Amino acid sequence: MEYVASLAFAKEQDQKDPLRKFREQFLFPQRKGKDAIYLCGNSLGLQPRNVKAAIEQELADWQQCAVEGYWGAKHPWLYYQQYCSKPLTSIMGASQQELTVMNTLTVNLHFMMLSFYKPTKQRFKVLMEAGAFPSDQYAVETQVKFHGFDPESAIIEVSPRPGEQLIRTEDILEIINRESNSLALVLFGGINYYTGQFFDIPAITAAAHRAGAYAGFDLAHVAGNIPVQLHDWDVDFAVWCSYKYLNGGPGAVGGAFVHEKHAGNRGFPRLGGWWGNEERIRFKMEKGFVPKDNAEGWQQSTAQVFNMVSLKASLELFEEAGIKALRNKSIGMTNFLEFLLQQLKGINFEIITPNNCNERGAQLSLLFKDKGKEIHQQMTDAGIIVDWREPGVIRVSPAPMYNSYQDVFHFYEIIANIASNA
Ligand SMILES: *Cc1c(COP(=O)(O)O)cnc(C)c1O
Repeated sequence: MEYVASLAFAKEQDQKDPLRKFREQFLFPQRKGKDAIYLCGNSLGLQPRNVKAAIEQELADWQQCAVEGYWGAKHPWLYYQQYCSKPLTSIMGASQQELTVMNTLTVNLHFMMLSFYKPTKQRFKVLMEAGAFPSDQYAVETQVKFHGFDPESAIIEVSPRPGEQLIRTEDILEIINRESNSLALVLFGGINYYTGQFFDIPAITAAAHRAGAYAGFDLAHVAGNIPVQLHDWDVDFAVWCSYKYLNGGPGAVGGAFVHEKHAGNRGFPRLGGWWGNEERIRFKMEKGFVPKDNAEGWQQSTAQVFNMVSLKASLELFEEAGIKALRNKSIGMTNFLEFLLQQLKGINFEIITPNNCNERGAQLSLLFKDKGKEIHQQMTDAGIIVDWREPGVIRVSPAPMYNSYQDVFHFYEIIANIASNA
């Protein structure tokens, strides 16, 4: 596609966009009496308009049904996780048996590691990307210590080569191969939060399996952004949060995938609770934990209805729009953003995200050598919402569900203006 740096071109793309009506389904923060230019869906997705009514429905059912709501609510609370796991099937490329929503991301990462990281004297190492999101680093560090190992020797980080920003797939595979006698788990982000690099999940998974290790992924920046095929790629487990591209709201329930070959095994090690128990006998209140023979067998507590309801409402929009169509629009908008940024003069930054659209999602990371924070402040003052990540990156993410080509163009105009006044 030939891009043109003009508002007329952006308007034309928006008119042709088959998903354009979804923008009206969202509430935009107001800045100076106008919709903000919100390009921060990588951090917190906007509120879908249908969330309010969905919450009010649960309040009304709680009022009217009280305890009978578990069976008698409009959406019975007993099965609440399934209202989210069903629409997630196409987004994650998994069967409903392999998916559930529960807890929050870091909690789920810990629970999955308790099942999939079972270090022995010989096989105790965890491989992850250097510069992983801090919560993931802390989770792995403390798990390793919890099992009595030293993080220094038990955690291997794959880094970019000197002078490079991105991690080469060949380097990841080479280290997995080299450590094949000692590797217990490969735990990678799907997309690195800082650079926006989308890793080769099937290649990493296959290499981990050849080395005799499990492969797990943190898909916080992937879920709702890039469609994946977790089942077919043979991923062992994955976890994600729902408040970024999935628009589930702050602190929304997290998601988890366990491959059918493990989820169907009731003997697979885990920590149990009654909501993971076979439903038929859950309320017999008897001794002996019998996990469900699917991903829900990792659940512990009663469904957190008020933590799931916004996600349930948001996922209705995903079902209607379709993740493939969203991804198509996303590639077009992010490529347009990249094209516009390349036209800028007099402003000193580098786009560190891969330039191949198959190796990135919606986000572009702009690395500033100097004045990055100052420029971020000027953007904020001009009504743009994007985020700043230390030590020097502004992340810009047009979300296909609610952003437009015109948003991207207005963003460009504002930076061009900042650049010309610098
Ligand atoms: C956003 C994000 C988190 C946040 O974890 P919570 O437990 O939801 O607070 C963790 N890991 C990654 C990679 C993230 O992008």
